[in-house]
Amino acid sequence: MCHPTSYGALRLVNDLPDVEVLPARGFATAMPDFRRWADGLGGKRMLLEDFYRRARVAHGVLVEGTDPVGGKWNLDHDNREPPPKGVTRLDVTDPWWPEEDEIDAQVREDLDRWERDGDVQFVGDDGPRRFAATRAEAVQALERFVTERLPVFGPHEDAMLQGDDWMAHSLLSAPMNLGLLDPLEVVQRAEEGHRSGDVPLASAEGFVRQVIGWRDYVWHLYWYTGEEYRHRNALQHKGKRRSGSPRLDDAEIGAACLSDVVGDVREHGWTHHIPRLMVLGNYAMQRGWDPLAVTDWFHRAFVDGYDWVMVPNVVGMSQHADGGLMATKPYAAGGAYINKMSDYCRGCRYDPRKRLGEDACPFTAGYWTFIDRHRDRFAKNHRMTQAVRGLDRLSDVAAVVEQEQARGSRAPDWPRQQVAQALVVVEHGGLRSPGHEHRGNGVRPDGGGRHDVVGQAVAAPGRHARGR
Ligand SMILES: Cc1cc2nc3c(=O)[nH]c(=O)nc-3n(C[C@H](O)[C@H](O)[C@H](O)COP(=O)(O)OP(=O)(O)OC[C@H]3O[C@@H](n4cnc5c(N)ncnc54)[C@H](O)[C@@H]3O)c2cc1C
Ligand code: SF4
Repeated sequence: MCHPTSYGALRLVNDLPDVEVLPARGFATAMPDFRRWADGLGGKRMLLEDFYRRARVAHGVLVEGTDPVGGKWNLDHDNREPPPKGVTRLDVTDPWWPEEDEIDAQVREDLDRWERDGDVQFVGDDGPRRFAATRAEAVQALERFVTERLPVFGPHEDAMLQGDDWMAHSLLSAPMNLGLLDPLEVVQRAEEGHRSGDVPLASAEGFVRQVIGWRDYVWHLYWYTGEEYRHRNALQHKGKRRSGSPRLDDAEIGAACLSDVVGDVREHGWTHHIPRLMVLGNYAMQRGWDPLAVTDWFHRAFVDGYDWVMVPNVVGMSQHADGGLMATKPYAAGGAYINKMSDYCRGCRYDPRKRLGEDACPFTAGYWTFIDRHRDRFAKNHRMTQAVRGLDRLSDVAAVVEQEQARGSRAPDWPRQQVAQALVVVEHGGLRSPGHEHRGNGVRPDGGGRHDVVGQAVAAPGRHARGR
């Protein structure tokens, strides 16, 4: 059989008589090639950028001979812009959506029965299927992405908009992880889009980097670093040890960004990379949650979760628990980053500029608390010296730390009496957070959707009632 995708499954297969494990499918670079490259570095750092460039040449993707098309390997500079100003959605065609058939109905029936019988417990809402589940569907999804959405992918790859759950992302992680699309076929189709003049180079390069760069890199790191990698905890974070079944109570979360992202996970089992990394992961790391429990939380909540991809992404990339193997500095940021890259903050009861006080942004205050907790370690990391210098310039660090200890690890919520007031106000046709009139209130401008604190009172038509 083909190489399994987790240590547990590999052990199981190896214990079976007369089973031969064949090379893995579904990745561009073969495992022995990665090993040769990594072993040959002679103690130098493994860098995604080096791996990615080799992969481009080895597979002949966006290259002329051994040179990159357009002269540059990395067009990140042209990508990663904030969202366009004054819009609530990107100007891009919707993703391809599956048409559910009788097989979907049967599966749903089976799942409902198992849940009724107490055999399984599911997370999130039962909504329309969003991801390709057959080869034919996956090909259609790829086609729609390359022809209609990839041209817009690059510039806003990292941006978040409250009213746009999908932005210009591909939604291809699940079908690729299921083996319905081969990553080389995917990047070759993206390259074709560029060569035919329909896809700007920055978007094509940004996407190719994700697929034969990051995706492959993560797969190989999982195997190369060994089974103990999942237990790494370089920052000694021990909070929230028990993850359990995720409670996706977005309506109870007062921080607009966190509420929206948790709501997306509840509705779709999916968010794009930046909400995973800079909202969910960042929040957990700032509060010192146990990386293994965070991995478990992600694993249970996301549709594309496999052990090989969750472990490096959560333990390494998002929690910095591998001490810097995957990323030279932690992906930690305060509210300023989220404010720059999204439209969340203007609809939030907190203020991204404030670290102290009732409306102190939990991300901003959490960021300084995190830097303070690891000050000595970060002072030795040249990529973190600026953050440490910034910390040393603050006169109120002790008060911020004390405040965050008092706020604890709970999701930042609405003070109870404020919710009570809001409930009264909403019945009279509007919702205002007392003292925050100028900053909005956590409710979508259209008054609907899931950001209202009082879900039952103003649930948007056609949506599932919020789980509580
Ligand atoms: C904390 C955290 C957890 C994650 N968990 C998963 C997971 O369980 N399964 C999963 O497939 N991806 C995971 N990712 C990576 C990435 O966020 C998703 O692959 C991506 O958001 C899926 O949406 P998309 O298909 O629209 O991606 P796009 O933005 O369209 O990107 C294209 C493709 O690139 C690949 N890719 C990009 N970045 C990564 C990465 N870091 N690791 C692996 N593949 C990558 C994916 O296959 C993705 O489909 C995680 C990232 C973080 C920070
Ligand atoms: S102010 Fe802080 S909590 Fe609110 S949306 Fe912005 S970053 Fe998130």
